[in-house]
Amino acid sequence: MTGPFTENVISDQHFPDTTDVVVIGGGIVGACTALELAERGLRVVVFDKANLNEEQSSRNLGWVRLTNRDPAEIPLMIESIRLWSEMDRRINRTTGYVRSGIIFSDKDESVAARRQLWLKQLENTEFRVRALTRAEMGAHFQGSTFPAVHSFLSPFDGRAEPQLAVPAIAAAARDRGAQIFTHCAVRHIDTAAGQLRQVITERGTVTTSAVVIAAGAWTNALCAQLGIDFPQLEVIATAFRTSAIQDGPNTSFGTGEFAFRRRWDGGYTVGSFRTRAELVPNSFRYAWKFREALRTQQVDIRLGSRFFRETRHLLRHSTDFLQRLSAGRTLDPSPWFDQQQVLKEVAMAFPFLRKGRLEQAWAGCIDVTPEQIPVISPIERIPGLFVASGFSGHGFGLAPGAGRLMADLVEGRTPVVDPTAFRFSRY
Ligand SMILES: Cc1cc2nc3c(=O)[nH]c(=O)nc-3n(C[C@H](O)[C@H](O)[C@H](O)COP(=O)(O)OP(=O)(O)OC[C@H]3O[C@@H](n4cnc5c(N)ncnc54)[C@H](O)[C@@H]3O)c2cc1C
Repeated sequence: MTGPFTENVISDQHFPDTTDVVVIGGGIVGACTALELAERGLRVVVFDKANLNEEQSSRNLGWVRLTNRDPAEIPLMIESIRLWSEMDRRINRTTGYVRSGIIFSDKDESVAARRQLWLKQLENTEFRVRALTRAEMGAHFQGSTFPAVHSFLSPFDGRAEPQLAVPAIAAAARDRGAQIFTHCAVRHIDTAAGQLRQVITERGTVTTSAVVIAAGAWTNALCAQLGIDFPQLEVIATAFRTSAIQDGPNTSFGTGEFAFRRRWDGGYTVGSFRTRAELVPNSFRYAWKFREALRTQQVDIRLGSRFFRETRHLLRHSTDFLQRLSAGRTLDPSPWFDQQQVLKEVAMAFPFLRKGRLEQAWAGCIDVTPEQIPVISPIERIPGLFVASGFSGHGFGLAPGAGRLMADLVEGRTPVVDPTAFRFSRY
């Protein structure tokens, strides 16, 4: 695997017969949901088909950002920032969350104007950005020659550590009674007469009255087994990390092409916004639904072996999820651009990065919905079935709030924010 190292969470051994809630997926969304549910005294079981945190949630840049969110996500993101800022104390472990601020800079007048327009939404809130002069930019990033027409600092944005957060949050959920099973794929969700009955895994069957699908890029496949059409496609994004850089800047930086941020180990994670998508049968099926997303994002589209593998799977009409894992348990795409060259280019504008060596590169499969906002919702057709998925490239920051909202929906409590925008029934 090319993915970054992430602490191993050891599997529980004693398989339960019954539970209150099954959470499918041990990424950041599943972990935060399990923590919330366990804290409320519910019996929770988390299943992951591999180790926890092997897909998107360990591979992301680690930004916890309010800036540039879809307006529908703003209340949930404000709640998430609040939850991130108390998370380490709450779980008595470290997620690496720091409110470090992000500096956004644009070279292009029209992009800068779009950002200004977005910022108007924060005008009457406590979240205020500060425009930066070139000299102030230089004070943050010494020797920077980035040709910005406009830069601002959002002091309320921050970062956490994708390789630390899920193991820490999952361990805290376990302290509160959650059970966690790794290398335990959910093969099928069993229903009878429109009612949830059991979850069938490769290690046994558990009876439950609630299931939360937090399966990231695999949610479409799990839903399809139940005849539920969850429109979702994947794009591949690449990131890399450098060796430690002494006295490097603490503030993160983002522009249209790339972004970087300091890591807990003193190195920097650098991400590029150039993305790639592999053609799969769903690309054709959902082409119309995703036309707007495809128009606005510059995605490099490729035909590869996955198209033929998935077509074969469709033709088999198999309802066993295990068949999908024949090509591997973890989505582990190859990083696809010349990272050394990107590091060189970024370091030309930010000379401090010249002191760092390229240590490791990886890529991750981002699950995207047509509107590029998640679904956090009950599936009305099957009482007790819920989905928290489709985070469209920004679910790491949103996850604590999403976990709280999901727990509210499962319990039938007044939701922490208005969930209307995230309802599955929008399809
Ligand atoms: C390069 C990159 C940069 C990013 N940068 C940022 C960023 O800076 N900030 C931000 O907020 N977001 C960012 N993101 C997006 C963020 O990583 C995701 O939105 C978030 O991690 C999604 O979490 P998740 O729990 O929904 O999914 P995942 O982390 O993908 O977890 C899903 C889990 O479900 C499991 N699973 C699937 N099917 C089954 C099954 N049948 N049985 C059992 N288990 C199953 C999988 O094994 C997996 O562990 C980035 C993503 C990438 C790839």
